[in-house]
Amino acid sequence: MRRARQQQTVLRALDEADGPLSARELWSRLSGTGVGLATVYRALQRGVEEGTLETVEVLGGGLRYEPRDREHHHHFLCSSCDRAFDLFGCVEGLESLLPGGFRMTGHEVVLLGTCDGCGDAA
Ligand SMILES: [Zn+2]
Ligand SMILES: [Zn+2]
Repeated sequence: MRRARQQQTVLRALDEADGPLSARELWSRLSGTGVGLATVYRALQRGVEEGTLETVEVLGGGLRYEPRDREHHHHFLCSSCDRAFDLFGCVEGLESLLPGGFRMTGHEVVLLGTCDGCGDAA
């Protein structure tokens, strides 16, 4: 029972995050809750197996996790603190970049820069 509650704590923290998180990033947000890193890994693993979470790699920055039911969005990667943030909304007119005869079935957009916490220090 205790384990189930810790799993809930992990998943809720991920759900409330403003972007996809690595296991370690998620764990650092849970300091003070008594949830260990192994529990975080286990909860994430189970979430992926059960299909409620998916893994995201933002520009090769290691494995991050986010809820699968999140609406269509893109990511912002801070080059200073290496955090990834969700960006809701999308880019219009990407199809216009395609050469004749090409068909687009999906897209990935990553914006780079510095986040509001790092902008002044950069
Ligand atoms: Zn930053
Ligand atoms: Zn999009």
